Amino acid sequence: MQLRYADDFVEGAVFICANRRRCGPPPLQVRRFHLAREKLYSILDPDERNTAFFKLQLEWFREWGLEKMLVGPADEFPLLRRMLNALVFRRARIQRDEGAELYVGTENGRSGVVALRIERFDQPDELVRFLRHEFAHINDMLDPAFGYSPEVHLPGRNAAQQRLTRERYRLLWDIAIDGRLAAAPRATLGGREQHRVAFDRMFGFWPESRRREVFDALWVDRQPRHVDLLAIASDPRGLDSAHEPLPGAACPLCGFATFAWADADAIAAPTVMAIHEEYPQWTLAQGTCRRCAEIYRLIGKRAPLPV
Ligand SMILES: [Zn+2]
Ligand SMILES: [Zn+2]
Repeated sequence: MQLRYADDFVEGAVFICANRRRCGPPPLQVRRFHLAREKLYSILDPDERNTAFFKLQLEWFREWGLEKMLVGPADEFPLLRRMLNALVFRRARIQRDEGAELYVGTENGRSGVVALRIERFDQPDELVRFLRHEFAHINDMLDPAFGYSPEVHLPGRNAAQQRLTRERYRLLWDIAIDGRLAAAPRATLGGREQHRVAFDRMFGFWPESRRREVFDALWVDRQPRHVDLLAIASDPRGLDSAHEPLPGAACPLCGFATFAWADADAIAAPTVMAIHEEYPQWTLAQGTCRRCAEIYRLIGKRAPLPV
């Protein structure tokens, strides 16, 4: 398995590390890094210069243990080394863009791609927790026993219902991942209670006993399977409420008729959480007018994020 990095990922991470006040690298090394970097500006050819920058930054990326912070958690999942041709890290600017994906190409084989905000290097414990969770997603996608398929498409369902199904699937998968990590035992992204609340909200149309049964089974399942998660996610109950919002229909939050619906895919997690504070039953698939989306975006920004 080859490790690959996007230029701006390595550059950003090295700078974050160099500027760290607490527990940063020795000041002398930071000075050496900056001096060596300045010298590279004398290279006239822009491509050559960029290559030189990347090489230098990668050296310090390794020297300051940043690569180790990524590789350590990856090695907890042996399938990654065995089945991936490359593990690629790239930079995400906002939280919504973070996450892991698996790409399968005819020429380059399988590549795991992890996008993360470089600010995470400032909080090593959180970084490890985040990576472990994302690597677990990749691990499942590689594991024949999990039987992953990227196609989460259900015939005869409208776009909003597809989105709601994918939202549910994602939640179920997260529960199955954090349940296994917690049993390992490893620190997880979300605790059992946190997942339980999200699950109850998403599957509120089930009786309490059924919710408990399904959640508990998921949390302790050592070998979850894609088809089972998908079967739960595509329960037709509750899907009826997922209409593609129509122009002129009422916004489920403010109740006003709206022609300006917010783009559901552009609504960030903190905004969704802020909406849930007031409307626990609301789902992304029901949509919201742009004005409400903006109001809750601002509220979500102010509230501290439970991580
Ligand atoms: Zn996840
Ligand atoms: Zn509204």
